[in-house]
Amino acid sequence: MNKCWLRCTRCSRKTDFRLIGKCPECRGTLLVEYDMDQARPTFTKKNLSRRSEASLWRYHELLPIHSPKSAVSLGEGWTPLVRLPSLEARLGLKRALVKREEQNPTGSFKARGFAVAVSLLSERGIAKAAVPSNGNAASAFAAYAARAGIEAHVFLPRDCPPLIVEECRLYGAHTTLVDGMIHDAGQRIDALQAEQGWFNAGTLREPGRVEGKKTMGFEIAEQFGWKLPDVIVYPTGGGSGIIGLWKAFNELQALGLVDGCLPRLISVQEEGCRPIVDAMASAPSPADSGAERTASPTGMRVPLPPDLDLLVSILGKTGGTAVAVGQDEIRSAQRTWGTCGISASPEGAATLAGLLKLREAQGIDPDETVVLFNTSHALKYLTPLSTGTHE
Ligand SMILES: *Cc1c(COP(=O)(O)O)cnc(C)c1O
Ligand SMILES: [Zn+2]
Repeated sequence: MNKCWLRCTRCSRKTDFRLIGKCPECRGTLLVEYDMDQARPTFTKKNLSRRSEASLWRYHELLPIHSPKSAVSLGEGWTPLVRLPSLEARLGLKRALVKREEQNPTGSFKARGFAVAVSLLSERGIAKAAVPSNGNAASAFAAYAARAGIEAHVFLPRDCPPLIVEECRLYGAHTTLVDGMIHDAGQRIDALQAEQGWFNAGTLREPGRVEGKKTMGFEIAEQFGWKLPDVIVYPTGGGSGIIGLWKAFNELQALGLVDGCLPRLISVQEEGCRPIVDAMASAPSPADSGAERTASPTGMRVPLPPDLDLLVSILGKTGGTAVAVGQDEIRSAQRTWGTCGISASPEGAATLAGLLKLREAQGIDPDETVVLFNTSHALKYLTPLSTGTHE
């Protein structure tokens, strides 16, 4: 590991590396910074191309773990980036590709964040930790905690996909269903953590998850031969995926490994729970209007993202935007993914629905390269009773 520290995204103050997520001065989000001069000699295109680790640990210089040997790993990352000829034809796009994040351990990109976060907990001997989640964060955390021998406590809204709840239990996590939304699950942890001695590994509460998710950006750059795509479409909830991608591209730029414009980052949310879309349009957030109860229980359903200002600023800086899509559009996009041979979760389908919307609105030029993120697998969202009876 290279020398690293934390920097506040709001007041720019630097603090020592610790497992905290908020600036002690201003409560802004803290992100990890590395000594780039130390990373530069070994983090090179040539060295990376010779590395055999088919996992995110191939980028160990820019991860905050003391030694790759202490990594808690289940084989996360280095997922395929696959061209989509039939979609290109249908959309009139020169190049469209899918980053197949559903192929991660536990079937979602959340594995990346928890591989790094749980490694940090493990290096520090933390014995018990808790996470609020809409599903995939809980099951990813549960798997890595099991691997590390850490006691896992997960809290999920009661309407979350039952197979994912079952998956958490399978990894041995103490699993609690909560009435309400993910922030209600978070409040349960806040109320219990001191008394129970839990570390709270919720979104932006510690620096590891963003660092793990950032490797998606490194992989895209490396898999594209160090030329970044024009547009990236990402299903967004708490936002650490977007923060991670943006951070990755900035670090690669600082190392001189990529140049030119950064990809336009486009967040997709579902109608009914669209705080990022509203914030981008400077519309008042309907977070407490109850509208979110109409949104389906997916990773995008986060009525109160922990740092909305940071997300708005990142999307704006990249020239990107945020779009909302309806449940019917998501279902139809899921079938379109199926015709491409891809099993897409509702979130992964939302990215395609979002792209269709933007293409119609002329938001994307035909000669641009677009990467869609399929963040999870369709199968995790089936309800057990529906499996035998579906048309
Ligand atoms: C958590 C999740 C998201 C949202 O990601 P954030 O980084 O929290 O914005 C998208 N898709 C899936 C499948 C998820 O589990
Ligand atoms: Zn600050």
